[in-house]
Amino acid sequence: MKITTRHWLLKSAILLSLSASLSAAETGETKQTTVIKNLKGYTVNQGELVTFNAIQFTNNKIDKLFTTQVSEQLTKEIRVIDAGGKTMLPGLIDAHGHVLGWGLNLMRTNLRGSRSEDEAVTRTIEFRTHNPELSWIQGRGWNQVLWPTQTFPTAATLDKHFPNTPVWLRRVDGHAGWANTAAMKLANIDRDTQAPEGGEIVRTKTGEPSGVFIDNAMSLISRAIPALSVAEQETVLKTAMTDLARLGLTSVHDAGVGSDTVTAYKNLADKNEMPVRVYAMVAVGDPHFSAIMAKGPYHHASGMLDLSSVKISSDGALGSRGAALIEDYSDLHGHKGLLLHSDKQLKKYMLTAMQAGFQVNTHAIGDHANKLVLDAYEDLIQETNTKALRHRVEHAQVLRLDDIPRFAELGVIASMQATHATSDKNMAEDRIGPNRIKGAYAWHKLLQANAVIAAGSDFPVESANPFFGLHASVTRQAHNNQPANGWYPDEKMTVTQALNSFTVAAAYSAHQEHSIGQLAPGMKADFILIDQDLVKGNPQMIWQTQVLETWINGIKVFDIASQPTKNL
Ligand SMILES: [Zn+2]
Repeated sequence: MKITTRHWLLKSAILLSLSASLSAAETGETKQTTVIKNLKGYTVNQGELVTFNAIQFTNNKIDKLFTTQVSEQLTKEIRVIDAGGKTMLPGLIDAHGHVLGWGLNLMRTNLRGSRSEDEAVTRTIEFRTHNPELSWIQGRGWNQVLWPTQTFPTAATLDKHFPNTPVWLRRVDGHAGWANTAAMKLANIDRDTQAPEGGEIVRTKTGEPSGVFIDNAMSLISRAIPALSVAEQETVLKTAMTDLARLGLTSVHDAGVGSDTVTAYKNLADKNEMPVRVYAMVAVGDPHFSAIMAKGPYHHASGMLDLSSVKISSDGALGSRGAALIEDYSDLHGHKGLLLHSDKQLKKYMLTAMQAGFQVNTHAIGDHANKLVLDAYEDLIQETNTKALRHRVEHAQVLRLDDIPRFAELGVIASMQATHATSDKNMAEDRIGPNRIKGAYAWHKLLQANAVIAAGSDFPVESANPFFGLHASVTRQAHNNQPANGWYPDEKMTVTQALNSFTVAAAYSAHQEHSIGQLAPGMKADFILIDQDLVKGNPQMIWQTQVLETWINGIKVFDIASQPTKNL
């Protein structure tokens, strides 16, 4: 076989990345053993809370946990870190988020609260100095009602500072956008451009577009914004993952990625530039879906990237009444929501993925969607003999009580987002009424029925902060401690159950429970240090937990001591 230069390059790139995951003995790299002592350590094993006060790890793997004082047993070669009584948890795992979306939010200038058009422009200039690589500058949050002029901004104020770089800034409500002339030029907009129906182009006295586009007219600009290149995606993903590590996450499941994003992840993993572990679900609508299936599951040698699941959406969301219900919406007679695929199409997607050896993760929110997905799983798991793949229902939000035991029976994981319950509580009850609510966000009923609940946040829909999720799991309250005893308090989780759902169960839902999710001998040294005792402290304070340090593979990837303070 002829070996081309490209093959050689590829090979050497793979070898480089391997060095991070091979053991010290294999690479000749020095062995470093570390003990972190004086801890309040917690980890969940077989559903029980395990406590420890010191941990020893060598390179990326845990050697042992200590439950007694360790000082006398240590040799000189061991690096000893005194944690000063801080709390240690396993690195937290978010089983459902959107990494690119989180990163894009971080890479847009935030104009919220700006007090004048000039201040909005100044913030955009400042943002540009930190993000010189972006081809378009995008932002959000301005509100002219808060400005002294109370009038819409114009392209002219942006043009002074951005004569050549296109700028597109959305209003706080997302219903208007402010463009500069460079952006309008790229979008081929001039005085003759007409607004589409349901939209308006704001014009100057002389009839020129002023720079502000309202509602449907916003698409005239947004469609001119090029899709991100793979290299740009790498930057966005890395920015997002760095931020997720800051929040105490050491692994995230990316719920629906396209083939470009897969390439970007693979490039980052090859360059050894993955700040956190990613378990990616391939989006079923991607044009290269079949090709990815044909190649089979993929696991990067570094252990930082896995691609062995797919994401299918079966219905919409409850807030917009897109979730598919069996009976009418309680607040909209004659409306039952919407299924996104015919049963035949849904099963075809599932079958393709199962036959290719991929775990199938299907979004289902309404009780109708959940029932259909469970029905389809029941048939197809048997047909393909893939119970061991641990297929999942993403959200599993509104369930018929009869469907709750089916999760454990079929070995199907409920991938749920605790903060959805506290964000949705009032709206959800309006939509589905007092009876169906009994099977909604029903964590306790599912756990009682032996279901595995993998916890996530659905960031950026909700905050990626896992302590918001742990807090919601345990209290079923908003941050203002309402409602008093929690919303449908019978469905609360214990602290141990909540921690389990963000660690062991989330790892299990990605077939990773033998390497992460738990602090135990032989497991990866992924852990965090936090500023309060989650188990013994006041549950209502959990959401305020501050992550002090995040360690992945025995390496500190975040240290609050070396960071400027940021808002959550
Ligand atoms: Zn999602």
